[in-house]
Amino acid sequence: MGSGQVTAWNGKNITVAGLGVSGISAARALAGLGAVVTVVDGGDSEGHRARAAELGELGISVRLGDADALPEGTELVVTSPGWKPGSPLFAAAAAAGVDVVGDVEIAWRLRGENAAPWLAITGTNGKTTTTQMLASILRAAGLRTAAVGNIGTPIIDVVTGADPEYRDLDVLAVELSSYQLHWAPSVRAHSAAVLNLAPDHLDWHGTMEAYAADKGRIYEGNTVACVYNVADQATEDLVVEADVEEGCRAIGFTLGAPGPSMLGVVDGILIDRAFVENRQKNAQELAEVSDVDPPAPHNIANALAAAALARAFGVPPRAVRDGLRAFRPDAHRIAHVDEVDGVTYIDDSKATNTHAAEASLAAYEPVVWIAGGLAKGATFDELVTRSAKRLRGAVLIGADRALIRDALARHAPEVPVVELERTDTGAMLAAVREAARLAEPGDTVLLAPACASMDMFANYNKRGDAFADAVRELAAAGA
Ligand code: ADP
Repeated sequence: MGSGQVTAWNGKNITVAGLGVSGISAARALAGLGAVVTVVDGGDSEGHRARAAELGELGISVRLGDADALPEGTELVVTSPGWKPGSPLFAAAAAAGVDVVGDVEIAWRLRGENAAPWLAITGTNGKTTTTQMLASILRAAGLRTAAVGNIGTPIIDVVTGADPEYRDLDVLAVELSSYQLHWAPSVRAHSAAVLNLAPDHLDWHGTMEAYAADKGRIYEGNTVACVYNVADQATEDLVVEADVEEGCRAIGFTLGAPGPSMLGVVDGILIDRAFVENRQKNAQELAEVSDVDPPAPHNIANALAAAALARAFGVPPRAVRDGLRAFRPDAHRIAHVDEVDGVTYIDDSKATNTHAAEASLAAYEPVVWIAGGLAKGATFDELVTRSAKRLRGAVLIGADRALIRDALARHAPEVPVVELERTDTGAMLAAVREAARLAEPGDTVLLAPACASMDMFANYNKRGDAFADAVRELAAAGA
């Protein structure tokens, strides 16, 4: 897009909601195309003002301290991922007949000609991991790609080439949150996967149906494959309901033996029975379970979903194996911290909902579970019922710990529980000490909070760091 070119955006009055990373990227890109941009944000700190001043240099107006009213003359609102659909600004936009869209929708509309196709991934858990696995596989096949969307460089900067590192890509591995899908009505992926569907973010979406419907949008208009989880009927239902291009196939992934048009596992080997000639009779070996790090069951499922999308894009089997071997998970996702007195300490701070915590608890036994934080409207009965037999004990922290305590009392009264009231920075050390007291040699102490972290920590990274620091302190004290 050359400068000076008249585009559909020229002179358009656009309000961007939120002065965060995605809001700033949207504001810059749209102002660069000649739009008249106003950014609104409820905050008014020094940091906000500094960012506002920078945008001011580019001719972008910023209104701080009031994020509710719709600026006069607004023709389109661009929202940031964290904003709730019930925000007053959106109600004002609806009342004025003004569309609201998200950063991903803007990225889709700003793609150049011959833009790289999107392979898209959503799900309650495993999105980032699977998207990165997919990018690793695509790279192993010699393709130029990037993992974007809910991760990394803002997607608008990637598709517009504002970040030169991302020019001339062959294909994008795109992680999409349910929020982003909610506000991205025209995105049409080459192929897409919904990894799993469990109640989460219901405070944002209102109901499970609304949450599922937003996730299901990812399949709309797919051209080659809709990838679903055989073990999670809800994901298959979304495929059935989706309006896709003629010839687009439904492809399942399973931890069991794959049927035709599925990827699965046989004797420790990841097998493709979807993208092979004569799939009634043939199967193609892709990789070994041991090529996946960590080889926990839910992570094998992630690898199969990534492999399915890569195979849908025509990637050869060897690149699937090489890409999986080259992949290493991000921090705080089942990270091995240390072993102290025969007890292994694992940081899965990223397990911010019950579905994720259940998956990681399933990988260890016996386990002392450190959990709690902000429950986001979740209930814990199912998680506790299914995990009870693995628990040596539980240490509960954070604002909503009583919800977990009560579920344990109902379904696993024999499991010893320690509840910590303190929420200061030393609380994690106290939690780790309590966990160490409950654990016996050979056990695992697992931080898998099943809750968000913001009641006690800036984010899940800081929570995981606090856990790792506490384990190091414990080790030093024992040395
Ligand atoms: P997301 O981007 O969806 O939040 P991540 O890849 O960052 O997903 O993983 C988040 C957490 O979810 C991890 O800490 C892990 O415990 C759990 N997890 C990862 N993959 C799965 C899966 N397929 N099913 C259930 N839980 C998972």
